[in-house]
Amino acid sequence: MVSQSMTLPKWTESIAAVDARSAVGTLSGVGLALEVRDLSLWYGKFQALDRISLDFPEHRVSAIIGPSGCGKSTLLRCLNRMNDLTPDVRTTGVIHFQGVDINARQTDPVALRRRIGMVFQKPNPFPKSIYDNVAFGPRINGYRGNMADLVERSLRQAALWDEVKDKLKQSGLALSGGQQQRLCIARALAVEPHVLLMDEPASALDPIASYKIEELMAELKKNYTIVVVTHNMQQASRISDFTAFLLAGEERTGRLVEYGPTSEMFTQPKDERTEAYITGRFG
Ligand code: ADP
Repeated sequence: MVSQSMTLPKWTESIAAVDARSAVGTLSGVGLALEVRDLSLWYGKFQALDRISLDFPEHRVSAIIGPSGCGKSTLLRCLNRMNDLTPDVRTTGVIHFQGVDINARQTDPVALRRRIGMVFQKPNPFPKSIYDNVAFGPRINGYRGNMADLVERSLRQAALWDEVKDKLKQSGLALSGGQQQRLCIARALAVEPHVLLMDEPASALDPIASYKIEELMAELKKNYTIVVVTHNMQQASRISDFTAFLLAGEERTGRLVEYGPTSEMFTQPKDERTEAYITGRFG
């Protein structure tokens, strides 16, 4: 559902945007967590994204795929204004989160990132205890509830509680890579976000740890909306409900080629470039 207040200049002309609407339309009753319209981004003079339009439905896993350098991470970082932290970045277009323009002057980016959390490729626990890693965000936010309960709930949601419940005072850095990544997920969940952005969350992990993260995503989507960047197409086809395929031309500017339900995109891609990519002919 597009908010009334939005202007949609090129929306009706964009094939990708039409795909986005029809993709979401196939699931009646699904709300939208994020609506991206005509998003372009420049790093200095270099244009990295060109007029991207798509919707991310609530309580679904949406995957962003495409060859290295096509702008997947850049797009993901726009969704919670992480690109604000990079000098010389300029964007045009609109992103609405629950109907609010995330780039509006009155939107507080710190509050936004509390609602739209992020998990990175390389697990990055703080050099603190497991407990303190999870309690970190709530403490900063002045959480007044029962912290021990919140830590336990977050660790349970991240499927880590059983492995760490007897060593909460140990350093988060002493955990295995896969456990560290689930700790980072628990840390992100502890501030009770609405959306979780995941940038190749399993690519630095061994296959078993990676599989656990995939299982976890399927569980987490019951309570959260997930947008995940992955270069692993098998993983995208296993874990996601929707897939967005980005591609950059010679000038390296990323564009949305196709967006739709994952099951359709992987069996009946509409664009021949998508077919070439998912069948491994390039990238
Ligand atoms: P992907 O995630 O698909 O590999 P990225 O979003 O990381 O792609 O990068 C898209 C393009 O933007 C690439 O050409 C990359 O070199 C460029 N880029 C990424 N980050 C920056 C930055 N901070 N400054 C300048 N260019 C960047």
